[in-house]
Amino acid sequence: MLIRDAEIVNAGGRRHGDIRCREGVILQIEDRLTAEPGEEEIDAGGRLVLPGAVDPHVHLALEVAQTRSADDFLTGTRAAIAGGTTTILDFVHPREGQDYLEALSERREEASTAVCDWALHMAVSWWGEETAEMMRRCVQDEGVTSFKAYTAYQETVGIGDAELCAVMEQIHHLGALLMVHCEEDEEIQRRQRALIAAGRTAPRHHADARPCSAEVDAVRRVLGHARETAAEVYLVHLSCQGSVAELARARRARAGTAGTGAASPGPLVHGETCIHYLVLDDSVYASDDFEVATYVLSPPLRSGADQAALWDALQEGVLEVVSTDHCPFNLKGQKELGRGDFRRIPGGGAGIQDRLSLLWTHGVETGRIGPERFVELVSTAPARLFGLYPRKGEVAVGSDADLVLWDPAAERTLSARTHLHHCDRSLYEGFRVRGAPTHVIAGGKLVYAEGELRVEAGAGRELRRRPQRS
Ligand code: MN
Ligand code: MN
Repeated sequence: MLIRDAEIVNAGGRRHGDIRCREGVILQIEDRLTAEPGEEEIDAGGRLVLPGAVDPHVHLALEVAQTRSADDFLTGTRAAIAGGTTTILDFVHPREGQDYLEALSERREEASTAVCDWALHMAVSWWGEETAEMMRRCVQDEGVTSFKAYTAYQETVGIGDAELCAVMEQIHHLGALLMVHCEEDEEIQRRQRALIAAGRTAPRHHADARPCSAEVDAVRRVLGHARETAAEVYLVHLSCQGSVAELARARRARAGTAGTGAASPGPLVHGETCIHYLVLDDSVYASDDFEVATYVLSPPLRSGADQAALWDALQEGVLEVVSTDHCPFNLKGQKELGRGDFRRIPGGGAGIQDRLSLLWTHGVETGRIGPERFVELVSTAPARLFGLYPRKGEVAVGSDADLVLWDPAAERTLSARTHLHHCDRSLYEGFRVRGAPTHVIAGGKLVYAEGELRVEAGAGRELRRRPQRS
């Protein structure tokens, strides 16, 4: 395949030229290439050519208490491709006491219908004598080099403080990366009980039970443990000003000691936010209506001031990644499980198809970030952090031929009626966006063209990784 007249945008800069792809890989990038017989030609004139986006935080077919997130690996990755995302990272959640490797093999089976490339993070959802060894096997035998811990959800996947430190010691030992969901569980449960006892059962009270302070306290505690154990950590879905302030402080401490030979350098810490925290705010909770359940997410949406702080942190490089935490549940039949008790509403929303268009509209179109930084946030940085670079995250010779032809002038309106998310509500119903893919190439194949998907179930490959800092 030959892509002509490409204005290539990488995180590190731009160039113009023609791109030749062969057997799923970028073979040549030159100012001008001559088509060979039988070569498929695509004219990229007037558009930008970006590396396929990487979404490092999605939950497809996630089992929660009484239901499953509404997109499976087939529908979820179809929506991803249509939005310009060609690689996703999802999670394995071993059941209490279940062998991690067995859970991994079950999850691989579920992921086998994906239409784009994928990798898995291992959730350290329980801790016992054998866990450290199972983590080692994940990293060294299975190519799973990132893990996830929850300070929230102590009744299910959450682990306690001592266990978290043990996990971090093993993370450091293995040269792996630990993602952490930071919210203080006890404070949330106390607030939930008080709200329910006072008859405040509507979806809006989900947000009252999960204040910024519960997130910031957990962020501070986790960063403290990272300092003690020297584990590399990645804080998922940071949503508020206090959290990014803590993260900025920890990153400055690291920068201040790096290369100085100091006995204890600050920890290597990273932060992610999600697209919904950047474009939605807590005004959606100002109603007792059950429709508000659409916006039951954890952490919840925050104030306009928090949102401004997140944008600042993206501009300053404190936050490195914008993901989706894609985890849709239908209002009908799923979110409805929490009628009369907001605690029973499955938390999450859809975004895998909309992330790029929303970040372009609210980031690039507004002048907050440039196209190169946009590429870094949605593709290059997650590829690097999760051990996929330079195979993913860059338009370069030798990289996978995952390319997005991006039309910065395309306009459309987001809606549950038209999205490919398997969900009856959109978090962004009626939002006008600018910027969309016209063509998407994954593994050297044209998989999306002018609104039409040409994907194949199971075409996605698992990406096994190597630890980067062992
Ligand atoms: Mn979470
Ligand atoms: Mn999540």
